[in-house]
Amino acid sequence: MPTEAQIEDFIQAAARDTGISTPPITWVNGPRSSVGPRGDIRLRRSSLEREDDAHFCSMHELAHVVLGHTRLLRRARDTALFALPLVLAYRVILPGILLLGLSLPLTLLLGCLLFLAGLHLGGRLGFRPAETAADSWAAQHGGPLTLELAQILAQRRSPLTRALGAIIGSHAAWPTRASLTRKAGVR
Ligand SMILES: [Zn+2]
Repeated sequence: MPTEAQIEDFIQAAARDTGISTPPITWVNGPRSSVGPRGDIRLRRSSLEREDDAHFCSMHELAHVVLGHTRLLRRARDTALFALPLVLAYRVILPGILLLGLSLPLTLLLGCLLFLAGLHLGGRLGFRPAETAADSWAAQHGGPLTLELAQILAQRRSPLTRALGAIIGSHAAWPTRASLTRKAGVR
């Protein structure tokens, strides 16, 4: 099991190789790692239970910094892409459903389905390309998401989290991410 200090050194070495200064790193007890708006990396402590997890997690988050995913304009664009399908659903499609003159339950059902479809489309368009790119970068820098690790991470998720993840669509399922990484030929 690696220590926090070892992983911070690992990040520092990768940042140096890439020619950027090491971003601030904090350790969190929550279920996921993330990058803050100022490019600071927040890593989940549970990743330290396995060396491959700690390496994958830290390189994936560093990738978001290196690849410029934290820049304000980039974030604004991704969020706009995320919101666009929702806006379309409500400004164009929902009024269309109302025009059909369906019963209230049917209208609500169609509205809900559209909402979920819009959410999914927005997640895929707005965020998934960056997540896939971050996985590839991580694999090239000593933090590959292997199929073995992906299966372990997938098992840790509750059915509810898994279902929500599938609906939002910003991240592919863990095993899919592992096979996308392998297909990119980076490990
Ligand atoms: Zn990510």
